[in-house]
Amino acid sequence: MNRFLKSLLVLIMCGSLSAQQTDYVDFLSVKADIQIDSENKGVNASVKYKFKILKEIDSVYLDARGRIEHYEIKEKNFKAPVRLLDNRLVFTDTKALVKDSIYEFRLIYFSKPQKTVYFVGDQIWTQGQGKYTSHWLPSIDDVNDKIEFDLSIDFDSRYEVMANGNLVEKMEADGATKWIYDMQNPMSSYLVAFVIGRYDKETEFSKSGVPLEYYYYPEDSLKVESTYRYTKQMFDYLEGEIGFPFPWQNYKQVPVQDFLYAGMENTGLTIFSDSYVVDATAFNDENYITVNAHELSHQWFGDLVTAASSEHHWLQEGFATYYAMLAERYILGEDHYYWQLYEYAQELIAQDSSGQSTSLLDPKSSSTTFYKKGAWALHVLREKVGNAAFRAAVTTYLEKYQFANVKTMDFITEVELASGQDLSGFVEEWLNQVSLPEDAIVKSLKRSSFIREYLDLDCRDDASSCKALLSSNISDKAKVKVISQVPGQVEGDAFENSREVRQAISQYVDRIPVSLKSHYETLLEDDSYVTIENALYHLWVNFPGERVKYLQKTKNVIGFNDNNVRLLWLALHLNTPEYQPEKKELILNEMITYSLPHQPFELRQNAFNYLRLIGGFEQKSISSLIGATKHHSWRFSNFAMDLLSELEGQPKYNEIIKSLKKS
Ligand SMILES: [Zn+2]
Repeated sequence: MNRFLKSLLVLIMCGSLSAQQTDYVDFLSVKADIQIDSENKGVNASVKYKFKILKEIDSVYLDARGRIEHYEIKEKNFKAPVRLLDNRLVFTDTKALVKDSIYEFRLIYFSKPQKTVYFVGDQIWTQGQGKYTSHWLPSIDDVNDKIEFDLSIDFDSRYEVMANGNLVEKMEADGATKWIYDMQNPMSSYLVAFVIGRYDKETEFSKSGVPLEYYYYPEDSLKVESTYRYTKQMFDYLEGEIGFPFPWQNYKQVPVQDFLYAGMENTGLTIFSDSYVVDATAFNDENYITVNAHELSHQWFGDLVTAASSEHHWLQEGFATYYAMLAERYILGEDHYYWQLYEYAQELIAQDSSGQSTSLLDPKSSSTTFYKKGAWALHVLREKVGNAAFRAAVTTYLEKYQFANVKTMDFITEVELASGQDLSGFVEEWLNQVSLPEDAIVKSLKRSSFIREYLDLDCRDDASSCKALLSSNISDKAKVKVISQVPGQVEGDAFENSREVRQAISQYVDRIPVSLKSHYETLLEDDSYVTIENALYHLWVNFPGERVKYLQKTKNVIGFNDNNVRLLWLALHLNTPEYQPEKKELILNEMITYSLPHQPFELRQNAFNYLRLIGGFEQKSISSLIGATKHHSWRFSNFAMDLLSELEGQPKYNEIIKSLKKS
């Protein structure tokens, strides 16, 4: 080896040394005492850390991305100077620390997290994945250091405080309560979480005795059953199917306003968007089941075994998506399972045809690839090796790597051992290959007679012969396909179908013959806010003479949490001069109110869309729209930016926007 090469090698090694502290230092525990300063949106904390030296090292750091305004170190049982440097708290000069010895220190600080902790109305909650927990809790952002995190949080006694682990004690003094939570097992820091807000809860126990805690806003007690429906069944099913007991002390689920995603699988504490809190009618259209099953599956796949790097991300998302499908199959049946496979396949094929396919192991893959190609890969793998080998492999894989990190081959090796099969062909086709194995997908889908019936059906060339199908015993999905292809063939009999088929009528039959009018009007009474919204709109358009009747009939329907029916109703009201003419101003004001900052962003977005449609923006709603461009949900802020620039192009609004932006 020549000198040049040697020094290059040293450089490379130093580079990886600072990047992978986990090979040298193992943080064991983080015990945090936290006070939230909601007025200043800050965190006051006193945190005790313990770490073990695995190999001699020059310096030991903690990630600390938050704006730490002051800090001090106490109770340090080792000698090393400390400083804040590049988003890290670094102990320099740690060479003297002894291998296999455990060291500790306490960090006291005040910081203002720029992200990861969100203050929304009177709720405070966290989102670690993709944001970094060290913004509010200095720790190790690298997923490969699993640490036992115990949080104690002090807050105003009128609020509930939830965190990972078991609630050991609540101590009350002077109107504040200290909530002491305890974790028994370690986890990656992105899974640390808490929620503060006004909640009630219901508790059930799994077959194995794990407490399942369902949190809800006090005013939503009637939505608890429909929101959390099937949770216990899915939990019991997954414990049995996976063959490894639920790894944590309890399982809490908490809805929050304006969440960044559908749900997040924090260890033992799933946080999800409150738009999934549904009443019994909304349940029929948009329920929490899939997200519920997905986050629950992550408690094993992601939380118990964690992908060592983003190249192996599918070991989390592909598995969570697949096990959610299995749980739903258990509840909703085989056709439902195949329908999900079919829908995911459609999305993957569309991605493939637009040239966007990637290898499942490409860290830059889209969510479609990680989630849906990942789930498909597992479905195909199970078909290939059989149920028994697949299940045995998964159980061993979890036992072997519990509370540790995993790579793709760790899993594949277990499946090869359990099945006795060489999986190199599978690995090539499903994991390495960029293009989608479309033939294999179609072949697998066609195992289902339900899917075969659906795929073989085509009414576009022979519309009239399809009419009879709407009163035959083909599947509802097939009937929906018929209606979408030949809406003109719908006759009175077709209304005698299920809610799903009737919904398709409300969606696709937009020109209503007088002969179907009375049938069509019955759609306004279906247990579906989608159907009611569609039917109200189409009836209002088709029968101008009856507008007052339709508005009167639907005046008390709100709809989903984005008020889908109510907002349509308000817009139609404003366009029906003969209906309650004295109330027009009140009606417009109600629409504007839904766009204002304290409302959930899903509702604001819907209200903004209607205000745009009717040209109803004014000072308050425009000011709210400008504020929305800075919202923490990037989807909503992008929407607001696009709409704002559209309004700026209209002379009617341009001046108002200019003056508001100035002030
Ligand atoms: Zn997920």
